[in-house]
Formats: sequence, structure tokens, C-alpha cells
Amino acid sequence: MSLSPLSHRHHPQSSVARAAAIADRLTELGARYDAAPVFPQESMRCLAAAGLHRDFAAPASGGMAFADAAQRCQALMDVLRIIGRADLSVGRLFEGHVNALALFAWYGSPAQAAQLAGELDAGAFYGVWATEPAPGVSIDVKLGGGHALRGAKSFASGAGGLARAIVTARPAAGDRQLVLVDANDAARADLSGWRVRGMRASISGVYDLTGVDVRADDLLGHPGDYDREPRFTTGAWRFAAVQLGGIEALLTETRAAMSEVARTDPLQRAKFAKCVVAARTAYLWVRECAARAANDSIDGPAFARLTRGVVERAGLDVMELAARMIGTRSAMDGQRIDKIIRDLSLYLRQSGPDYSRDQAALTWLDHDAWGEGDLLW
Ligand SMILES: Cc1cc2nc3c(=O)[nH]c(=O)nc-3n(C[C@H](O)[C@H](O)[C@H](O)COP(=O)(O)OP(=O)(O)OC[C@H]3O[C@@H](n4cnc5c(N)ncnc54)[C@H](O)[C@@H]3O)c2cc1C
Repeated sequence: MSLSPLSHRHHPQSSVARAAAIADRLTELGARYDAAPVFPQESMRCLAAAGLHRDFAAPASGGMAFADAAQRCQALMDVLRIIGRADLSVGRLFEGHVNALALFAWYGSPAQAAQLAGELDAGAFYGVWATEPAPGVSIDVKLGGGHALRGAKSFASGAGGLARAIVTARPAAGDRQLVLVDANDAARADLSGWRVRGMRASISGVYDLTGVDVRADDLLGHPGDYDREPRFTTGAWRFAAVQLGGIEALLTETRAAMSEVARTDPLQRAKFAKCVVAARTAYLWVRECAARAANDSIDGPAFARLTRGVVERAGLDVMELAARMIGTRSAMDGQRIDKIIRDLSLYLRQSGPDYSRDQAALTWLDHDAWGEGDLLW
């Protein structure tokens, strides 16, 4: 049993249709990688074989030509949801990859766009690693000339498994700089601390970058580009879309697991109705936020900050209600509901949730960031 199919309005044979076609396979692989966590190579190959690793690159890097930014964000939202429904760990990895593709499109040189095209031909996946333990990653001058990185990244999804990553690094002076690095050196990846309840196959370990050479063509854009608004903060809509997929999958599984007795009980049905409202509210906020992202709307950051909280609340509510409707089966090893709840409970933990809501409140106190409320698609 599934929720109603996602719309394929614009591209009948599009990325959305191709993502839907591999969803069952990703689900099956997701259960295996959860049970014996390693980098989910087969799942990533499955995404690449469907061409999904390339679709959201700029045309100069071999990406699909969308009619406009709104159509592109709409397709991306549905693809992120579909992959999130199947396996949140792979959704996290795919979201990092499309974030990297966007950074290339916005800040990359023509030579870097061409290089990316070649890497995508080879099926490469990228990560974006910003989180770091103190003192962070710096760009140091080497004895004898040239530059090299010093420091490590933490929560580096795909550490040692992805082909490449875009990392933030601090130059001697000024704002942080994006640097292109290899991500597949197993000797640099420390996964010993990645002992987690959920999101196991996202392999979000520590990656040591000390001694990695930095040449001029490894620099993506200029210092400060990564933090440029409204794109930086509004970009949270993408992980919210993956989380939404997880919530929708939980709702679908809960419906399938509800016993006949539960279905005849108005109290259980009331809980189910609450789940539907939570999931659909999250959907409406994420969709609106994606539309603002497509527009580079000045209020995109305030929107994204509240959307994060709406999706978090929806996830927490559906997890609690699902457990109460289904009972102990929701916590049993090997049950899909258990995996989704474990994955979601970790993935919903994103940085500064209270700060984020407070910043949005400051914007909304100044003016109504929803504006006229025109639905942009
Ligand atoms: C599965 C997974 C994959 C990830 N992958 C990546 C990745 O590939 N690349 C990447 O860059 N990052 C990644 N991250 C990191 C992510 O972006 C967040 O940085 C991280 O989830 C935040 O962790 P935390 O909840 O421990 O935050 P912390 O910042 O340690 O905050 C913990 C809590 O402390 C409180 N707090 C924090 N700061 C303040 C403050 N200033 N004032 C008051 N209270 C405060 C808040 O209550 C907060 O919830 C990943 C995270 C997860 C869970």
C-alpha cells in the first residue's frame, strides 16, 4: 500500500519517474545496509544507473535542461522525497550530492563544470562537508611553497566511500572558502565514532584532511560564497524534503500495519488522522519553501528556518502516534517501521533548531514573510 503517487506533471519520463522505478530496490538495499552498515555502494550505483546523479547538475556539466528554476525545484523535491521514503541514509547522501551540484553551478568555473561532467560520466558522487571539530579546517602555506589543508571534518556523510567532496576551509584571513577534495581515501576516514541508532549507512564519520594539497583549480568560487544568502539558509529545504519522505514512508507503513480492530476504533482513527495532517502540513511547508528557493526569494531563509521546525514537529508526532497505534511491533528489529523511526530520530537533529526558529520570528515580527501567499506552482 502506498500514499497517492507523486505528480509527474512536467516530465512523464523524468527523474521523478526514474526515482520511483528504483524506489523498491533502494528500500530493499536500505534494510541490508542498516543491518550491516558500510557505505551503501550498491544503492549509489543504482542511483547512478538511473542517471539521477546527473539530472540536477548544470547543463554545462551534463545535467537536464529544465524549463525554469521552479520546475527544477519541483522535480528535485519529489526525487528527494522518493529517495527519503526508500532509505533516509541514501537520501542524506543524495542530498549532499545535489547540494554539491548546486555549488558547482553557482560558483564553479567553466573548467570545473567540464571536470564535473567527466566525473559524473564515471558515476562519481560528491559530499558537502562543513561541520568540523575545533579548531576546524584551515588552508595553510606549505614550507617550500604551495598550500595544504589542516584539520578534519566531522559528520562527514560518505567519508571514505564517496568519490569527492566540497569542504569548507578557513584561509589565513577572510571568510571560509570552498575546496574540492578526494573523499575516498579510507585511511583518512575514521568511522569508529559512527555508532548510531539510525542513519547508519550514511557513514557520517570523521575525515582527516591534513596534508591534502590545495591548488588554484581546487578552489570553488571565492571566500564567503558558501555562506551567501538567501541560498545558504534556504537550502535547508532540501534536507527537509528528504525528512518529509521518511515521514510519508512511516505513515504508509503505519497504515499497512494497523490491525482490522484498530481500523474500526474511532480513537485509533483519530490518531491516524493526526498523522495525515502532520505529514501533509510538512509537505505544504516544504513545497512552499522549495518554490521560494527556486525564486531566490529574500524571505527564503525565514521560510526555511520555520519549515525545519514544522517538519521536525511532524516527524516527532508521527513517530509517537505510529508507536501508539502499532504497539511493540514498531520497535522490533527487522521491522521497516523500526528502521524509519530510528533513522528519522537522528536525522531530525540538525544544527541550532531554537536559534533557527528565533531568527525566523525576528523576520516575521518585521513583516509577513509568507507575503501574499501566492502558490508559486
Ligand atoms: C545523519 C547526519 C548526517 C550529517 N551529514 C553531514 C554532512 O555530510 N556534512 C555536514 O557538514 N554536516 C553533516 N551533519 C551535521 C549537521 O549538519 C549538524 O551540524 C548536526 O546534525 C548538528 O548536531 P548536533 O545536534 O549535535 O548540534 P550541536 O550544534 O552540537 O547542538 C546540539 C544542541 O545544543 C544546543 N545548542 C547548540 N548551539 C547552541 C547555541 N549557540 N546556543 C544555545 N544552544 C545551542 C541546541 O539545543 C542543539 O540542538 C550531519 C548530521 C547528521 C545527523
